[in-house]
Amino acid sequence: MKIKPLVKGCHTELIGLYRDFHSCPELGFQEFRTQEQVIAYLSRCGLEPREIAGTGVVAELHGSQPGATILLRSDMDAVPVTEETGLPFASQHPGVMHACGHDGHMAMLLVAAKILTGMREELSGTIKFLFQPNEEEAGAWKVVEEGIMNSPKVDSVFGLHLWSQCPIGQIDIIDGPQMAASYYFDLKIKGHGGHAGFAHESTDPVFIASLIMQAVQGIQTREVNALDPAVIMFTRMNAGTSTTIVPEQAELKGSIRFLYAGGEALLERFEQVISHICAAYGAEYELELNKGNALLENHPETATFARAAAAEVVGPEYVTTNIRTMAGEDFSDYLAHAPGAFAFVGFNNPEKNTDYPHHHPKFAIDEDALIIGTELHIRAALKMLAI
Ligand SMILES: [Zn+2]
Ligand SMILES: [Zn+2]
Repeated sequence: MKIKPLVKGCHTELIGLYRDFHSCPELGFQEFRTQEQVIAYLSRCGLEPREIAGTGVVAELHGSQPGATILLRSDMDAVPVTEETGLPFASQHPGVMHACGHDGHMAMLLVAAKILTGMREELSGTIKFLFQPNEEEAGAWKVVEEGIMNSPKVDSVFGLHLWSQCPIGQIDIIDGPQMAASYYFDLKIKGHGGHAGFAHESTDPVFIASLIMQAVQGIQTREVNALDPAVIMFTRMNAGTSTTIVPEQAELKGSIRFLYAGGEALLERFEQVISHICAAYGAEYELELNKGNALLENHPETATFARAAAAEVVGPEYVTTNIRTMAGEDFSDYLAHAPGAFAFVGFNNPEKNTDYPHHHPKFAIDEDALIIGTELHIRAALKMLAI
């Protein structure tokens, strides 16, 4: 079957789906209309979609012959951003915008599902089409908890992200660590308040917070191999009410990210440094550390299949292995249960004003990328099923 003309023939449909999702964005675990639309489309394809993880959707396509089971995944959620693109199909929901490309992801996977369903007679094995809610807040765990990786057991997984740092016409897939693990911390330093004029009678949590902020940077720069990317970022600090009062408490919030296996050791050192500084200056502390995304590591064998598929889509000269990022992705939750690969599909095109970063109010995609991602889903699926 000639896949390329088949996908190209769906460009108008792809754009229609993308624009419809774009105009009606919904935040994570609130994708109610989106879910309805996805279920309706998959049902029209002849599949039997069902709800998963509240607002998610999964549908299985069984080929005419037995074989492996693979999972193709799209996310569904928008982000809390007020759109400023001025596009005719801009968000109708104030303060909510598809500013990450998940609208395009859904359009591509829906059309890929339609085309693959039409190829059912030629297929061996099973494809699970997964539309996952709440990627922005790492919602994949809920889908995994509800058994997406079992019955039938998933042998390999594939996902993609429209990527603003990648030019239109290019696909980037690397082996190994691709997107960072992330942890979020909330640190409360408990001192002893008093009069700013009698500092010796207080334990100043603001001073101690400033020492901690400086000291933990030494973990990255002096303890982690300089070739292993890691960041410790303080993004919020809160303490005090007045120029004359030493407060009782200072609060620091932020995130720790790393892009290499074994980076969890950072977390231990982070707390050690905090506890020692607090002890040295007589303060107590409370540290809450919450896991965001796990490290996203592409499995080399699946990544090789995915690159071969990508070469058929855009030509081998436009398949690159450049992009690693400190952003996170909960696709890593599926990779914890099965080998797989995640691809970046480029859409950056300054001529079309589609060169704004993800989550920017003027974020927009080059709609030509929709054809590329759809074809990539289909070709990656065919290669993975042929394993
Ligand atoms: Zn995002
Ligand atoms: Zn995203």
